[in-house]
Amino acid sequence: MEKRDIRSYPFEQLKGEMLLIGEKAFRAKQIYEWIHVKLAGSFEEMTNLSKQLRAKLAQEYEIYPVEMLEQQISQIDGTNKFLFRLRDDNVIESVLMRYQHGNSVCISSQVGCRMGCRFCASTLDGLQRNLTPSEMLGQIYEIQKLTGERVSNVVVMGTGEPLDNYENLLIFIRMLSDEHGLNISQRNITVSTCGIVPVMEKLAKEKLQITLALSLHGSTQEKRRELMPVANKYELSEVLKACDDYFEKTGRRMTFEYSLVHGVNDTDEDAKELISILGRRNCHVNLIPVNPIKERNFEKPSKKSAFNFKNKLEKSGINVTIRREMGSDIDGACGQLRRRYAQRE
Ligand code: SAH
Repeated sequence: MEKRDIRSYPFEQLKGEMLLIGEKAFRAKQIYEWIHVKLAGSFEEMTNLSKQLRAKLAQEYEIYPVEMLEQQISQIDGTNKFLFRLRDDNVIESVLMRYQHGNSVCISSQVGCRMGCRFCASTLDGLQRNLTPSEMLGQIYEIQKLTGERVSNVVVMGTGEPLDNYENLLIFIRMLSDEHGLNISQRNITVSTCGIVPVMEKLAKEKLQITLALSLHGSTQEKRRELMPVANKYELSEVLKACDDYFEKTGRRMTFEYSLVHGVNDTDEDAKELISILGRRNCHVNLIPVNPIKERNFEKPSKKSAFNFKNKLEKSGINVTIRREMGSDIDGACGQLRRRYAQRE
């Protein structure tokens, strides 16, 4: 029988598991701490458990590996990119960014992606499978272990559409912010979505304190459809309504991501449209000069033109930043490192 991945069980569920295998519930506390605080990768490390118990656990369960394959370190800003191998040999990537306010890890939520955004490398080969809560946590745990540095912020902005893997995402968020585990505040967790309206509505009802970021990328329905196939399914007006609903229900201000593509969505007209839809909203706008991938011929705007765009929004009272380019000397764009690895193998 396939051994179950013990790292995917939330604390309460782990208690139930212990009862199932004839152990006392309090064992769950010890084991949970080993896995989620001391970041143990095997049962042998759990030295305050008896040999018999460790053997019994190893018979029933496994801690599925998230094993580092490669690491790239930016010479410019110390950003690290990691390639990890999973138990079934699938490969995923994660990024560690060091900011003044602390370390932020960007994790993948799926192997590949089926959303098809035009400028994104993660989606070129479609979706392989969802990641489990354990595999999402594992990326953060491995990075903490490899660097010896504490992670204070987590952004689910790597490969994959997190709301296309909703059940696992929720378990992951609750475990990551559980006081029995790493205890990362939900306010320090950001989930980015291309805008799957019914799932955004569900998420709003969970009343989590996470930040929701919407990938907008176009300020009209037509513009959005050019860049994001998901816009064929959900009208811009519905998406914006779901954003308002999220803010209303959670009190958390929305972030809007807008990847600037030269000549496609960065004109004065685009800025005007963007102001007209976001101007009255309490939100934050994050402009991302597009990171060109060789499979498509999109270009990034000049620095000057990006600043111009930003200034226009600012003058209308919109809270806006241009995303600082991190690790531009390594395979920076979403999914590029993994893709290069796959092509090499
Ligand atoms: N599926 C989620 C997470 C994707 S990655 C989502 O769509 O939001 C996080 C952000 O990076 C998204 O806004 C995505 O559209 C953007 N992105 C992906 N590839 C990019 C590229 N090559 N250049 C600029 N932004 C990119």
